Amino acid sequence: MHNFSYARAADIDGALRLVSQPGAQFIAGGTNLLDLMKGGVANPDRLIDITRLTALAQIHELPGGGIRIGALATNSDTANQPLIRQRYPLLAQALLSGASPQLRNMATLGGNILQRTRCGYFYDTGFDRCNKRQPGSGCGALQGFNRSHAILGGGESCIAVHPSDMSVALVALDAVVELRTARGARRIPLAEFFRLPGDTPQIDNHLARGEIITAVDLPANRWQEHSAYLKVRDRASYAFALVSVAAALEIQDGIVQDARIVLGGVAHKPWPVPEAATLLRGQRADAEHFREVAEAAVRGAVPQKYNTFKVELAKRAVVRALSTAASAEEMT
Ligand SMILES: Cc1cc2nc3c(=O)[nH]c(=O)nc-3n(C[C@H](O)[C@H](O)[C@H](O)COP(=O)(O)OP(=O)(O)OC[C@H]3O[C@@H](n4cnc5c(N)ncnc54)[C@H](O)[C@@H]3O)c2cc1C
Ligand code: SF4
Repeated sequence: MHNFSYARAADIDGALRLVSQPGAQFIAGGTNLLDLMKGGVANPDRLIDITRLTALAQIHELPGGGIRIGALATNSDTANQPLIRQRYPLLAQALLSGASPQLRNMATLGGNILQRTRCGYFYDTGFDRCNKRQPGSGCGALQGFNRSHAILGGGESCIAVHPSDMSVALVALDAVVELRTARGARRIPLAEFFRLPGDTPQIDNHLARGEIITAVDLPANRWQEHSAYLKVRDRASYAFALVSVAAALEIQDGIVQDARIVLGGVAHKPWPVPEAATLLRGQRADAEHFREVAEAAVRGAVPQKYNTFKVELAKRAVVRALSTAASAEEMT
């Protein structure tokens, strides 16, 4: 294993100073980074432990009814926070569908957003073809076993999917991520933070070198009464999504005023379906219209040899998630 040194940051400025050294990388819960290090996929020279930055573990209300979740809030704490459970049930559902209770106790918001793909060719350094791990080497999954890979937004360079459940819900809820460097802070909608592989599949997102995620802000939730997170996977727990859907509806007198759909497990980033709002606005919230949205959701899909099933699976998941969201009020 690659030798590395370890330093614990006492405050954000200290963390930013420490991470500016060559080969330095933050570690939060360590549930993804340590696996990558053990496999030789990530080889930092210096780990900067940020888990003592307790100010970044807070969850609190924002003026106007929104909420701020600190980057070090654990997935368990976030999912069980009464404000989140009451006002953002979609987020709580997504969080609780991920990993296991033990992992959620360690996993943090920042680390969950930044976790790397679960593509087997990426994790196994015995395979020499992986553009994400070794830029320019090719993509082993394209001609290989690509059952769990992308059907949307992929390309020749990489067909990996983003594995985070939480991020799918956060994008549906219009989350904005706050990033900080020694020069100051910036904010970016989470939907724009992730990127498609293009010619640089080794880069997952727009986090700059030396930047820290400090928090995610959610605006007041207008989808509170009618939302649902549906995750379809090989096992009932402790498995990543084959397909997931964050669905949210604003309904008045049985008529849809607005809608949100974001798919997970199908692309290099959470995959919003903006057509959902256009197709559903002014319609009755029923399955007939949901099927139209489902068709639109996978338009342009390019499945691989082993994952053609994902196209139909995604359509059915969209219909089911929307149907659950439409009746969610009665279920709460
Ligand atoms: C067996 C298993 C099953 C899992 N199942 C699921 C699942 O079903 N759904 C799901 O969504 N996830 C799942 N996960 C992933 C898990 O949720 C992530 O590993 C976890 O959220 C990562 O958070 P962490 O704090 O441990 O990050 P770390 O491993 O500490 O860090 C991950 C990356 O983020 C960077 N980082 C961390 N915090 C910051 C910050 N604040 N600013 C800048 N950079 C930062 C680190 O440098 C590193 O690059 C699973 C993991 C395992 C091991
Ligand atoms: S899909 Fe992406 S991560 Fe997987 S082998 Fe291809 S380039 Fe690597």
